[in-house]
Order: sequence, then structure tokens, then C-alpha cells
Amino acid sequence: MKNSILKNINSYRKFVRNNNDWNKNGDYVVYWMQANRRIEYNYALEYAVAVANNLQKPLLIYEVLNVDYPWVCERFHHFILEGIKEHHLYFTNNSIKGVRYLPYIELEKGHAEGLIYTLAANACGIISDEFPVSKIRKYNDRVGNKVTVPYITIDSNGIIPLGVSEKDPYSAYLFRKVMQKYIVEALKYPPAKEPLVNLKNWGQCTLPTNFKERYAFDENLLNNLDTLLDSLPINHTIKKVEKVGTRESALEIMNHFVEFKLARYEEDRNHPDRQGGSGLSPWLHFGKISSYEIVDKVLSKQPLGWNIEELEPNGGKNSGFFRGHSYVESFLDELITWREVGFQFAHHRPDYDQFDSLPDWAKKTMNEHDQDPREYVYSLEELAESQTHDQIWNAAQTELRTQGVMHNYLRMLWGKKIIEWTGSHIKALEVLIELNNRYALDGCDPNSYSGIFWCLGRFDRAWQEREIFGKLRYMSSQSTSKKIKLKHYLNIYGS
Ligand SMILES: Cc1cc2nc3c(=O)[nH]c(=O)nc-3n(C[C@H](O)[C@H](O)[C@H](O)COP(=O)(O)OP(=O)(O)OC[C@H]3O[C@@H](n4cnc5c(N)ncnc54)[C@H](O)[C@@H]3O)c2cc1C
Repeated sequence: MKNSILKNINSYRKFVRNNNDWNKNGDYVVYWMQANRRIEYNYALEYAVAVANNLQKPLLIYEVLNVDYPWVCERFHHFILEGIKEHHLYFTNNSIKGVRYLPYIELEKGHAEGLIYTLAANACGIISDEFPVSKIRKYNDRVGNKVTVPYITIDSNGIIPLGVSEKDPYSAYLFRKVMQKYIVEALKYPPAKEPLVNLKNWGQCTLPTNFKERYAFDENLLNNLDTLLDSLPINHTIKKVEKVGTRESALEIMNHFVEFKLARYEEDRNHPDRQGGSGLSPWLHFGKISSYEIVDKVLSKQPLGWNIEELEPNGGKNSGFFRGHSYVESFLDELITWREVGFQFAHHRPDYDQFDSLPDWAKKTMNEHDQDPREYVYSLEELAESQTHDQIWNAAQTELRTQGVMHNYLRMLWGKKIIEWTGSHIKALEVLIELNNRYALDGCDPNSYSGIFWCLGRFDRAWQEREIFGKLRYMSSQSTSKKIKLKHYLNIYGS
């Protein structure tokens, strides 16, 4: 079984970034935890453990938090820091032999610069995360080109490995076909629950001698996150929210959802008053939880006698494939098809965040309607502060600004209205990206761009032509208010 897992990783999840040979004289193997910030159900960590055992070297798990990433602010930093603190406590309280956990919080811009190269100098090789957004893609390209040891990235993002598809999927329907073809096999090779259990003790992991003087970080600072946060050169106007960025919290939310909300997912998910979604997207985004464990838990709710081996591709239709309960099917269609179509798209298209990546029909129709008169035009800051004439839109934006999340159904309406109120389609795209990524805890994700670009035609088809939208799908607040229950929601966020 172990060999099979590695075979599966090698075939579809492993991205070799250079042709360097393992440095057998190195002191340790590095796992640089960039995107999937968890030590369970993590293929990249599992691979790093296998390499460490193979080379008979200790493992160094390095987790850094920089202050120079786009939209850096108190809200995101606090969430990530809670996860780092959880790891720090775990490794302090459980002295696991043969591994060293190295957290590093950048206290000033540029402080962490060069750190990975200092570690690389004494390393046998580096394993990190494959994650298809430009920030991490750039790090991976740069480091892979510069180090003289192997630099390998592993995809631990979803159920269907990024390596199975050859090009960007045009629609969710086409990707669903791919999903239906591979899922049974993919689920046969789940990531190990506790990869560190397999790590043998190859001795202590010693850091390079010049490390401490160049990169001193007092780990005691993690004991008081508020004080640490206050001292950092980040945007303090986007405040932290009550969501706790730990794996423990992710598991609690998943368990609660599967036990108490899953069976009503289909009926409830579109109604803001019922809050029927899992709410897991921030934890999925920061890799605190694996989609494997969610799928596994959800499939355990299928009726007795349900058997995964009986699943047969059904031409990409979004119902009937998973058999069993329709609510299971409905949830898995979001978690697997809709979540992963965005990852696959961004993986194949480095321009995934550019207007030009939209389908031709969408660009043509927007071009034809770009100069249509707009009844309302709002500035970025008016929109940010929920100062429009539309009560539902303002409430959704207030939820996003104050809570760091927005109800799924309203997110679609929110995006569509921005197209109507910003003066041009290119401007609308800029504003959508800015507001989403400035406030949303799950922002800067491949799915941020799926959702935003869906509003502009990606993964969608042409609809009846109308002003401003052209053939893009249209949504109105009036019909939304008739379709969904949001009285209670408006009481909370509407004033
Ligand atoms: C304009 C716009 C912007 C969006 N921005 C983001 C974003 O920044 N980050 C983000 O993760 N999602 C984004 N989405 C997609 C979707 O709205 C969220 O994933 C969903 O609301 C998360 O809520 P949940 O965790 O309760 O989802 P659930 O309904 O519980 O679904 C479980 C998981 O499946 C995935 N998922 C569910 N619906 C979608 C969808 N429509 N598209 C892609 N994946 C989905 C998410 O990972 C989600 O956590 C956006 C959608 C739109 C229209």
C-alpha cells in the first residue's frame, strides 16, 4: 500500500522543479509548508518523510509567515498565526524524534529574505507545496531555479491530482467528466492520516551555524498573538474576526456540519437565513483541512450497502453519479467538481487572474456593451463601505467586511452587481479582485478567481442579451429577494 501511495504521488502529484541530485552529505531534508499548513493528510509531508527515510536524514518542517504578500493584514495574519501556534505547541509538547519544526514570523519586511537559501545550503533537498496561485508559483519557480539541491513540489490540494488533466477545463461539466473517470482510483490512494508516524529517528536536526545570528525569531512571541500582531508592519484596519485558524477548529466545523447540516444541504445552502453551507472555505484555503477527510466523512453518511466500486461515469451529469443520498451528491459536486475545476484551470493557465483568460464569447459581448450607460456608478471605497442604494448588496458586503466571509448565493449576486456599477468590465474585474481579496479569509485562492471570473463568463454559457451584461448571465436583487430567505440575515447585516 505504501508503495502504491508513492506511485500515485509520483505519477500525478509530483512536480520536479530542477534536475539536481540529492545532496547525500546534507544535514536534513526540508519540507517547506507554504500552502497546505497541516501535518495530517498531507501528501507533501508524506513524500518528505519517505525521502528523509530513504536518505536516512532528519526532517526539518519549515513554516514561515511573511509580511510582504498582497493584501497582508491583521485578519489573515491572525488566522495563520493561530495555526502556526497550534503546530508550535504540538511539536513542543510531543517530542517526536527525527523531526524539527521551525516557525518563522517575519517581523520586518525583507527579514525572511534568503532564509530558504540558508536552509538549502545544508539540506539534502527541499519538498514544498504545489499551489496554483501566482504568489506561490513565483516562489516555487524562483527557489527551484536557484538552489543546487532538488526542489520538488507536491500537490496536496484536492481529490483529483493536478497532473491528470492536460489542459485547462472549459467548463465544470467537462471537468466533472474527468472527475467521474478518476475519482474511484484517486480515493484508493488517500494521503496518510499521520505521515510523521512513519518517520524513523535519523538523529537531531541541526540548523546551519550562521542561521541563529541571521534569522533570530523568539518562539515565545507566539504565546501572545495580539502583542505580536500589534508589532507587525501590516494593514491593521482589516481587523481579525472570531474564526479560529487552527486545525482543531476546522475539524470541529467539519464534524458539526456532517452531523447536523449535511442532510439539509440541498434545501438550505441557498438561504442566508439558514446558513446551510459548511463554512469550511477559509480552512480549506489555508490547508488546515484536507478535502479527503471531508469526502471520507461525508461518504460515511451514504446508506448502508453503498459501495464506491459501483460508481460509473455518467457523462458529466451533476446528479446520479454518486448514487445514495442526493444531499451527499450535491455537497460533493461543490467540494470536488466546483472547487477543483478552479485549481485545474489555474494550474494550466498562469493568466488565470487576467481578463484575457476569459472565453472569447464573453470578451466579445463585454466589448460590445462596455460603453452602455450605467444608472449607478460607485467608487471602490463606496462599495467597500456598503454605500449603495441596494440593501441586499450592502448587507452582503457588510458581512464580508466585518466577518471575512460572504454567503455563497449572495456572493454571486454581489459579483454581478459590481459589473453593473463600476463603469466598465475591466474596472469591475479590478474591484471584484480587490474587495474579495482584501476582506475574504478564503481570498487569493484559485476559487476566488473561479468565482470572480464566473461572474464574467468563465465556466458559464451565453444567455439572453441585455444592457451592460451583454450575454453574461444576469442576476437581480429583486428576484433574489423572492427566491431566498434572508429576513434574519438583513436584520443582522442590513442596517
Ligand atoms: C464572486 C465570487 C467570489 C468567490 N470567492 C471565493 C473565494 O475567495 N474563495 C473560495 O474558496 N471560494 C470563493 N467563491 C466560491 C464559493 O462562493 C465559496 O467557496 C463558498 O461560498 C464557500 O462557502 P462554504 O465553505 O460554506 O461552502 P460549501 O457549500 O460548504 O462547500 C464546500 C466547499 O466546496 C467549495 N465550493 C463550494 N461552492 C463553490 C463554488 N461555487 N466554487 C468553487 N468552490 C466551491 C469550497 O471550497 C467550499 O468550502 C466565490 C464565488 C463567487 C461567486
